Amino acid sequence: MSRINVMQPWLGPEEVAAVTEVIESGWVAQGPRVAAFEAAFARSQAAEHAVAVSSCTTALHLALVVAGVGPGDDVVVPSFSFVATTNAVAYVGARPVFADVDLVTGNVTAATVEAVLTPRTRAVVAVDQGGVPLDLDDLRALTDPRGIVVVEDAACGAGSTYRGRPVGAGADIAAWSFHPRKILTTGEGGMVTTSREAWAVRARRLREHAMSVSAADRHATVLAPAEEYLEVGFNYRMTDLQAAVGIVQLGRLPEVVARRRQLAEVYAKQLSDVPGLRAVADPPWGTGNFQSYWVEVTEGFPLSRDGLLEHLAHADISARRGIMATHRQPAYRGGDHGSVPLPVTERLTDRTLILPLFHQMSESEQARVVDALRSAGR
Ligand SMILES: *Cc1c(COP(=O)(O)O)cnc(C)c1O
Repeated sequence: MSRINVMQPWLGPEEVAAVTEVIESGWVAQGPRVAAFEAAFARSQAAEHAVAVSSCTTALHLALVVAGVGPGDDVVVPSFSFVATTNAVAYVGARPVFADVDLVTGNVTAATVEAVLTPRTRAVVAVDQGGVPLDLDDLRALTDPRGIVVVEDAACGAGSTYRGRPVGAGADIAAWSFHPRKILTTGEGGMVTTSREAWAVRARRLREHAMSVSAADRHATVLAPAEEYLEVGFNYRMTDLQAAVGIVQLGRLPEVVARRRQLAEVYAKQLSDVPGLRAVADPPWGTGNFQSYWVEVTEGFPLSRDGLLEHLAHADISARRGIMATHRQPAYRGGDHGSVPLPVTERLTDRTLILPLFHQMSESEQARVVDALRSAGR
């Protein structure tokens, strides 16, 4: 019996060939592959502009900078998210204000955001948590009339849909992750997508030291034109090595999502009669990619969440605790981040676990996970 991991990236000889080609070309930093990956990603996500960066964390940082968020501003964020969602707000010197989330989707809603608005609220970072699409139209009905920007943290969202379109397509600006824990990977990497050309132009410049001429363009001419540094920028570039992998991975996305949804459907069916387990599911307004297949261990289950994790570990199944609660971390605990209670965040953090789900997962591997869950429930 071998270990079943919670997640496994799907990489093959096509990625190897793509990287080899980049190395043989002699140009490995940001260049033509990054530009091609941006164009392909924009097309697949129905985005007007795409700017490739080094991670989703840096994408979120740039998104907040170009949206004009800075010191003195409040930014609403879910505590129920990976810590980077909140860190990006701290990077621009604004105050992160924690909102609670919906018990069923794990996402912020218009109601949970409205509960924490202040006269200084400038933006909301709203997450498609674990790939579950958030109800963006409902949120924007609250924020648009108040001039509040919504930054969509679609780190986990590639391949999920909202009202028939890819998630992120309805946002002014969105941030994506290509970390191996996510749905497609470039090792590390991220993307900013936006409908606003001026924001795209500035993000593109800021990721590259705010240079007036990109390094790739300078390289294209023998006598490189003199560049200027227009503001304080960053080095948040993706490399062509990563982008070459990203192009191949993006081509796999429809197949990856279809397979994940198939595996999710099997879990849903097999676990539906296990009392005390509640599994993540599609909301009425969209379809998820099941980047994280989580279950809530409710009071009706004979084991606690941690007890169930141990039970699975005995069967050599590596499940994981669910999404973290940022407000409980030392970096933010006791800080001035708003004062509403976050009961749903705490409940989900304490009671959810993420089950193994990956493209190559076999029927027998999934059956082993289901058996372990059912035997724990007896
Ligand atoms: C993973 C994740 C991030 C960070 O992505 P990186 O590419 O690792 O920087 C940000 N937000 C959410 C919701 C995530 O899940």
